Amino acid sequence: MRLLLVEDDAMIGDAVQKGLRAEGFAVDWVRDGRAAELALDTGVYEVLLLDLGLPRKDGLAVLRDLRRKGNAVPTLVLTARDAVDDRVTGLDSGADDYLVKPFELKELAARVRALLRRRSGRTAPELEHGVLRLDPVSHTVTWRGAAVAVSPREFALLAALLETPGAVLSREQLEERLYGWEELESNAVEVHIHNLRRKLGAGAIRNVRGVGWKIGDCA
Ligand code: CA
Repeated sequence: MRLLLVEDDAMIGDAVQKGLRAEGFAVDWVRDGRAAELALDTGVYEVLLLDLGLPRKDGLAVLRDLRRKGNAVPTLVLTARDAVDDRVTGLDSGADDYLVKPFELKELAARVRALLRRRSGRTAPELEHGVLRLDPVSHTVTWRGAAVAVSPREFALLAALLETPGAVLSREQLEERLYGWEELESNAVEVHIHNLRRKLGAGAIRNVRGVGWKIGDCA
């Protein structure tokens, strides 16, 4: 679950990046409108968190140009502007939701999860596959009805595989989903997969030689 955060305020940006990373999201952070456009042109993001008052290019202009180009990435506007007119303009410019500063990190995380659900066309919050069940709200995993303790990254890895159960995801795709631009050990994905297989059984995640991994039958 890779997010792009566009925020020029260092304290807010740092707090949001750390808080959402602790929730298991991969969060890339840029501080101006032009850098946001470059990141969006070159990377794949599942949610955009967009401040409005930005150097080099205003957030609303970034959003309008993004939509004009046909990029439909779910967008949550973060704004200090609490005037009704600014919120309406934001929504009319293509935002999916907004949050007025100051906000609680737990509310931001909940709104991000809601956007992810809407994007995948799911109304129920749980992800299910065979005897495996993920609850993105409580970050809990159950296997045959029993709770299994997993780390935020392990949770994110399972969620990525469960979103499209037939799909094979490569190591590069999983690294991007789990870490974005964050520094990581070269075998990080393998370590997570090894740990998940130990917890859920070797058949839970299948290796497709030379390509990547997919979710197993979980029967
Ligand atoms: Ca700002």
